[in-house]
Amino acid sequence: MEYVINSENNIKWLTYPILEQFKEIKHFTSLKPGGFSYIHNTNTLNMGFTDNDLKDNVIKNRELLCKTLGIDTQNMIFSNQKHSSNIAFVNSSHKGKGLYNKNDAIDNNDGYIFLEKNICPIVLTADCAAVFIYEYEKKICTLLHCGWRGVLNNILKEALLKIETIGGSKSNIVIAISPAASKCCYEIGEELFMLFNNKFEDIVKEFIETRNNKYYFDLGKCIYYYLINNERINPDKIQNAGLCTICNSHLFFSARASKGITGRMASGLLII
Ligand SMILES: [Zn+2]
Repeated sequence: MEYVINSENNIKWLTYPILEQFKEIKHFTSLKPGGFSYIHNTNTLNMGFTDNDLKDNVIKNRELLCKTLGIDTQNMIFSNQKHSSNIAFVNSSHKGKGLYNKNDAIDNNDGYIFLEKNICPIVLTADCAAVFIYEYEKKICTLLHCGWRGVLNNILKEALLKIETIGGSKSNIVIAISPAASKCCYEIGEELFMLFNNKFEDIVKEFIETRNNKYYFDLGKCIYYYLINNERINPDKIQNAGLCTICNSHLFFSARASKGITGRMASGLLII
C-alpha cells in the first residue's frame, strides 16, 4: 500500500506507510473534502491563499487541519513557491511565516530541510507533487514542492546534496511522493517532451506515454525513476502514491482539471 486515506472532523488526509514506520516524525497531505471554503459548489479544505477564496476561510481550514492532527497551527511555515530548486534550512525562527499573510511567507522557495522538533513546514500543491525525504539515522527532514519544472531545475539533486552537506547519507533515506498529475490525463506539448527526452533519454519512456500522437506526462513516475536511475536510490526506499490529481477531483484540487479556479492541498512534515 502506497498511501492511507484518513478522516476525522469531516476532513481527509493522506499518510504514507514508508514514513509511518518512524514514530519520531509526523506527516500528512491534506485532501479536498470538508473545511470552510466553498469551491466547485461544495465545502472544501483549501489550504492556500488564492484569488477565488476568502483569506479567513483558508486560515480556518489551516486551524481545523492542525487541530485534527494535533499540531500547533503557529508552528506551520509557508513559502511563496516558484518551481525553483531553492531549499531553505528552517528552524523555529521561521514558525508562523506565511500563516496569516502571503507577504511574509519565505519568498521564492520550494523546499525545506530541518532538524528541529515541532516546526511544520508546508508545501502547497494542485497537480504538482510533494516529496517527503527522511534521513532516519541523522533524523534530517526534507520536504519539496516539485513539478516538472522542479525536476528540470534539479530540486531533487539539490535536496540530496543538502542532506549530505549536513552529514546525512543517501543510503539512509526513505522517500514518499504525493499524488500528482499523471499520464492518464496530463497532456504535454512536443517541446516539453523534447526537453525531457534530451535530459533523461534512458528513462523518459517510464514517465511519458504517447497516445494518438500526443504526449502524456506522469509526474510521480518521473520523480520516482529519476531518483532510482539518476540518484541510485534503492526502489524499496521510495513510495510513489501513484494517484492522479486531475481525474480524482473528489479528493484533490487540480489546477488542470478546474482550469485555474481551484484550491491547494497542504503537505507537511515534522519531528515530534
Ligand atoms: Zn488522471
